[in-house]
Amino acid sequence: MPITVHQFACLDDNYGYLVKDDATGLAAAIDTPDAEAVLRAVKETGWKLAYIFNTHWHADHAGGNAAVKAATGCEIIGPPEVTRIAPLDRPVKEGDEVKLGETLFRVIDTGGHTLGHISYYDGADHVAFVGDTLFALGCGRMFEGTAEQMWGSLSKLAALPDDTTVYCAHEYTAANARFALSVDQAPALKARADQVFAARERGEWTVPTTIGVEKATNPFLRAPVLRPDLAPAQAFGALRAAKDNFKG
Ligand code: ZN
Ligand code: FE
Repeated sequence: MPITVHQFACLDDNYGYLVKDDATGLAAAIDTPDAEAVLRAVKETGWKLAYIFNTHWHADHAGGNAAVKAATGCEIIGPPEVTRIAPLDRPVKEGDEVKLGETLFRVIDTGGHTLGHISYYDGADHVAFVGDTLFALGCGRMFEGTAEQMWGSLSKLAALPDDTTVYCAHEYTAANARFALSVDQAPALKARADQVFAARERGEWTVPTTIGVEKATNPFLRAPVLRPDLAPAQAFGALRAAKDNFKG
């Protein structure tokens, strides 16, 4: 049986997600960017919130853990680093399987934005929740990790099936598109950037995306193509540094 995802915008540019296992009706919140917004979504959907699945410790991802747990009694699952700012009931790591009713999520270590950042992959439904690792046309800043670590993490996500639906945690796509166009002239990117700018003008969301679309157009996944003069991790690192300094 499949899952149903309820997406909502919160804070300045975050997306929050509730995911429901259709067989059992049990639901999980992917991160807690804003406790009030998460609890409003629980109320609106009428779903039974059994878990929080955290991706990393930043306040716009784990900051609502305590309040959401207090209101729902849910169990908090995530990487050990979450305890830097918030409660955590069950630490998980690369290779662990997290159960939501009858749905299994594989934990993928996607460190680099933070050292312990993880993603959750439902291999039966081809759905991935990737936090601040991979964005539509972009990737997370390396606050704690190295270019090698972040490139390794992005490569793991790129190895998922092309039709994997990718739920990232921020609406950064228009800014990402402006940078992408400055380093890549590929027709597929130009076409997508046009769609992104038009969608944002209409106030529409550009998330979720898919692994196939990102492999074709995301400059960070295309780093080895864009910088064939460098080893892949170095090519990625050079693009990430350029993005950090980009004034679009
Ligand atoms: Zn973050
Ligand atoms: Fe974030």
